[in-house]
Amino acid sequence: MSYVFAPQTIPSLAIEGESARFPIRRVFCVGRNYSEHAREMGHDPDREPPFFFMKPADAVVPASGVIAYPPLTQDLHHEIELVVAIGEGGTDIDPDDALAHVWGYGVGLDLTRRDIQAQAKKLGRPWDWAKGFDESAPCTALRRATALGHPQSGAIWLKVNDVERQRGDLADQIWSVPDVISHVSRSVELKAGDLIFTGTPAGVGPLVAGDRVSAGIEGIATFELTIG
Ligand code: MN
Repeated sequence: MSYVFAPQTIPSLAIEGESARFPIRRVFCVGRNYSEHAREMGHDPDREPPFFFMKPADAVVPASGVIAYPPLTQDLHHEIELVVAIGEGGTDIDPDDALAHVWGYGVGLDLTRRDIQAQAKKLGRPWDWAKGFDESAPCTALRRATALGHPQSGAIWLKVNDVERQRGDLADQIWSVPDVISHVSRSVELKAGDLIFTGTPAGVGPLVAGDRVSAGIEGIATFELTIG
């Protein structure tokens, strides 16, 4: 195989306590997966099946250091989320079998240009420009499910400049991790390396340059980063 120019490096995430890295294939994100967040965005959480959007694999960056404030927005929002890393692909995965497809877990930020998203909703346009910009998916190092297990509860929280903005519990997810995996796999073939951002609890809000974000999920990981 020859290419007309050198292909890009495969995007990847660090793995806690290991030198090998987790190669990223695609990034799926669940739209609204905590009731209180659905309500704060003006939707009835009891009426909707799960829905999905995507980010480019190279939007994933380490959740540390400085994350660039993106162009085209005056309203960059934080969304703290459990990230599921798929290790074994499949189609039409039954929820009862879904956890066997999980390689591990991390904690990520679904950064959102909320003003662009609001405009897209109003005009019936795609969400891509609101969600899939550069560095829009900071994520911690992953932890293996073989060591961690499969957390089904635990506090999920986010602070900006030490003031708490978001708090929820994984147990409050409308669609559990097995349900989410099953739904994605009935739409596309899941493959090893796929990441799934599983939605955010209530309390999303704006970030400005210089803000220090600290966040985490009990028993999985914490992180701290600064908005550039
Ligand atoms: Mn989200």
